[in-house]
This record gives sequence, C-alpha cells and structure tokens, in this order.
Amino acid sequence: MPAEAVGLESCLGRILREDIVSDSDYPRFDKAIRDGFAVRADDIAQVPAVLRIVGESRAGLAASVSVVPGTCCEIMTGATLPDGADSVVMVEYTETVAESSVRILRSARQGEGLLRRAAELRMGESVLSSGRRIQLADVGTLASLGKTEILVSRKPRVAILATGDELVQVGQAPEPGQIRNSNSYSLHAQVVAAGAEPVLLGIGRDNLEDLRRQIGRGLQHDVLLVSGGVSMGKYDFVENVFAEFGVEVEFDSVSMKPGKPTVFGHRNDTFVFGLPGNPVSTMVAFRMFVIPVLQSLLKFSSTPQTLRARLDASAKCDSARTAIVPALVRFEGESYWIQTAPWKGSSDLAGLSRANALVVIPQAEGSLQRGDVVDFLSLE
Ligand code: AMP
Ligand code: MG
Repeated sequence: MPAEAVGLESCLGRILREDIVSDSDYPRFDKAIRDGFAVRADDIAQVPAVLRIVGESRAGLAASVSVVPGTCCEIMTGATLPDGADSVVMVEYTETVAESSVRILRSARQGEGLLRRAAELRMGESVLSSGRRIQLADVGTLASLGKTEILVSRKPRVAILATGDELVQVGQAPEPGQIRNSNSYSLHAQVVAAGAEPVLLGIGRDNLEDLRRQIGRGLQHDVLLVSGGVSMGKYDFVENVFAEFGVEVEFDSVSMKPGKPTVFGHRNDTFVFGLPGNPVSTMVAFRMFVIPVLQSLLKFSSTPQTLRARLDASAKCDSARTAIVPALVRFEGESYWIQTAPWKGSSDLAGLSRANALVVIPQAEGSLQRGDVVDFLSLE
C-alpha cells in the first residue's frame, strides 16, 4: 500500500509509514514537577530552614530571578527552574513565615521535584518507528512533537462477497432451507479490526453467470474475499470462476480443521481468497491466512500473535490436520490454562462467541494430556 497523510484525529490504529524523531529536547528546559519552592539543596540540609522568597516562576512565564544562598523562588508545576536552584520542595513541606519568607520543613536531594532538560527525549532521538500500529498514547506523543500530519499506510480495500443460493439478507425472515448471510458481517468486522477498509458486495448466487459478474467486480479491489462455494459440492463454482479470470492459485487446500478448502491466489495486484462457507471456518481462515496478507500490505511490523498455555484437560489430535478450536483461556498461578470450549462444529458461531481464544491442537497421532503446552490465539 502507498502511504498517505492523515491528521491527528484520524491516525489512531493506522500503520505508521515514517520514523518519528524528536524535534527538540523534552522537556525543553529544567522544569518543576511540583508546586512549591525552588531551592538550593545545600540550604536545606538542616531543617527547619527559613529562606527569603526572591520571586515567582509560573508555567508559561520563564523566571527572571536567580536563587542565591539563603533564598528561594516560589514555583508552580510546569514552570522553568530559576538559575541557581537545584531542587523543588513541595508546598506541603513548607510553612509561611511572612510574605517574603518561608520555613522549609524537609530536606531535598539535588534534582528532587524537577525534571532536567532532555530527561524524556533528546533532540533527534527516535520515538516511533515506521511499521508501528499507532496506539492511544502515540496520538498525544505525535501532537506534543508538533506533528499535524502523519504518514500512514493507505487502507487496503477489501471486497467481501458471500455466496450461496440458501442465503437471505440479515433483515429478512428465512424460508425453510434458507439461512441469514452472517459471513459478510463477520468478515466486515474482521477487516475493520485488521485496519483495512471493507466493501460489501452482497450475495452471489451459485451459478456461473452471477459469480462471474460479482467476482469481476471484486477483482477491482486490493483484496477479494469470497465466502462459500469452494468445497466439493456440485454447485461450488467459485474456483472455476477464479480460473476463468486468470487468478493464479497458490493453494486451495490446507491441512487445517476447520478451513480445509481455503483458496489463496492473486490476479495482478489483487489478492484473492476463497474462504469456506461455514461461519466459524470463515472466521478462522481469515484469522490464519487473511490477517498476515493484510499486515504485509499495510507494512505492519506485527509481533507474533500466538501465546502459550497449558492444557486444562486432555485433547484428541487429528493425524491429518492441525485443529484450531474455540477455547476458554484463563490466567492462573504462573501461566495461562486453556481448554476447548463446548461447541457444535464449524457452523456454531454462538459457540465461538462463548469462547475467548482459539487453541492450536497440532496434527499428530493420539492425544495431548493435561498440563501439555499448546499455542493459542486470543480472541479478545
Ligand atoms: P459452502 O462452503 O458454500 O458449502 O457452505 C458451507 C456451509 O456454510 C453451508 O451450510 C452454508 O449454508 C453455510 N454458509 C455459506 N455461506 C454463508 C454465509 N454467508 N453466512 C452464513 N452461513 C453460510
Ligand atoms: Mg454454498
């Protein structure tokens, strides 16, 4: 994806495409971080000590006084430390003696109650790197560095096509044999969460003519996601239509459960996915195969997404396929503990809603035992 400039109000969650360096020292000056009195620590080695007040330093107004032995300067949080002072005593540790003098009740170390120039950032220091997803705190950081426009990756446009003669719009009441098109919306949500821009193409019917028209439209986008119609059924035409359009297929079967019939290919600059129609399979295949493609398009330098947990209960392996199973994970003691969630197979979206993770049960003979370490992906 090319980079584009966005304002501070719309940069959250976008992928940064420039290295951000500090335009100055931060703070720019020795700064009080307490309300109180700027003093010389030597003057208050013995307390109580009475000091003469020579002036006031307030935020936004640089102090024009010097603190010499026996004196102090009233100071507010955020104000410049006056010359000669080396610490700030909180007002809570002082007592007024007269209008122009104060009794200091506690000693201070040099540097206490203040932040030295450049303590947070040095001019030219690297702050945020290209490839980072802009987080909440980054927005304020960018603002404080004076960035009004930020270069981020343009969002890939992801076309979403649901297929199936049995599908009706979500707002419609299904007749016998019909079901609501939920995949378009799960995929829409997953695309948004991945930082890309979804484009809903609606429902394609299980005939060559309709699929040609809809897939033709979909191929005009950066990514095309087609759900359903990629299995071995008599009316699963999606792969035929991909072939007609010259989509170069990299794979059309994976040893994963669910998600076996997942198709991945490309035509020119468009990445193309055929995702299995079962609602849980669609979401799992998106998580495993579409997310990495979107991250790569966005130039997002992601950190590994798999975490490790101990199995709470034994789990049977499949000798032919890696299983990615809805699961419940909790943190207890020193580690995560995980068990598969009750669910009724790859159409059971409500079962997936009750889970908070996907556990990876490796392709193997036999079973894993309680306490064995497994990988999982968080759904939260
Ligand atoms: P298919 O991959 O087309 O054979 O579909 C597999 C299963 O997923 C079938 O039971 C379909 O009815 C169901 N399915 C397909 N597309 C959708 C969709 N968009 N929303 C909900 N379920 C779907
Ligand atoms: Mg179908």
